[in-house]
Amino acid sequence: MKFSFLLVCCIITIYTHSQAGHSHRLERSLKFPDIAGYKTMKCDLHQHTVFSDGQVWPNIRVQESLKDGLDAISLTEHLEWLPHKDDIPYPDRNRSYEIALKEAENHNLIIIRGSEITRKMPPGHSNAIFIEDANKLLIDDSIKVFQEAKRQKAFTFWNHPSWTSQRPDGIATLTDMHRRLIREGLLDGIEVVNEHSYSDEALKIALDNNLTIMGTSDIHGLIDWAHDVPYGHRPITLVFAKTATSEAIHEGLSNRRTVVVHNNLLIGRDEFLIPLVEASLKIDTAYYAGKTDVLTVMIKNITSSEFTLQNKSGYTLHEHSDLVTIKAGEQQKIMVKTVKRLTNVDLKFEALNAVNAPGSHPVITLKVKVQ
Ligand code: ZN
Repeated sequence: MKFSFLLVCCIITIYTHSQAGHSHRLERSLKFPDIAGYKTMKCDLHQHTVFSDGQVWPNIRVQESLKDGLDAISLTEHLEWLPHKDDIPYPDRNRSYEIALKEAENHNLIIIRGSEITRKMPPGHSNAIFIEDANKLLIDDSIKVFQEAKRQKAFTFWNHPSWTSQRPDGIATLTDMHRRLIREGLLDGIEVVNEHSYSDEALKIALDNNLTIMGTSDIHGLIDWAHDVPYGHRPITLVFAKTATSEAIHEGLSNRRTVVVHNNLLIGRDEFLIPLVEASLKIDTAYYAGKTDVLTVMIKNITSSEFTLQNKSGYTLHEHSDLVTIKAGEQQKIMVKTVKRLTNVDLKFEALNAVNAPGSHPVITLKVKVQ
């Protein structure tokens, strides 16, 4: 009796505590809205386990991804770098995938079969995902291995092109071998974000060569420790897919419909970045108070990233300078001096935390209907 009374007290305490907590994040689970015509699929398509040089069993990768609310992952074990092979023999290179698939069985998480093709520069490291059989990728020739991946209908991307172990200056640079891989349709994408690094040069390579813009955690240890969860989060690639399926993610990646999320930084082509930012910021209320001609607008950020907006509306603001930040999952009031009372107002902002090309930010429009 006494024990159960204590237990009830305990539960009430925990419950009220969790309700009272004030967080700048919605919750751990990552939130990004769908855009018109597409499901926004949250993907981390470059991860490791003990089956290559990672430090955890594949089921931990699945559990971390469920906590982060991801829709799809790939465990891309190195084909050629197996430091644990004396302790964990790995004759079938599909095992990591199979264990993850079983762990994810009763969950809403798509597991994509993948491998990391691990070479000196050039071409450095690349991932092949949506493969049929990892064992068949054990090929020495750096071109032939991509040809086999493509025979298996893989989507391929160049990993961490700015990695200072292979590029001491950190400047992602195409080599003749990369040009050949791209020309022959063997390389589809490039990581612009890998773990903690972001590369302007990789973004330029993606834009100049019509490659898919990718961002991944390349996690080896624990996501929580590497990314200071819940204050930070892992990098992810948002794939705009026609349906919530593995095939649709493959199609979306092949057609370059991605935005990379790197904490508060969003990177992508305007075609997808602008609709994503506009869908991320919801106008809650808009009204003129009393007899004033100053419009009060409540903007809600429904994502897990903080937005930094620069006013480009042609109106000045009553409480802010030209800069407005809206924290993840929070609402921000702005007061717009429209000079006279309007019924419809277009608020234009440059989204400074979003990048559509090196040094360039998209301009978005929030359409406000005054109540
Ligand atoms: Zn890797």
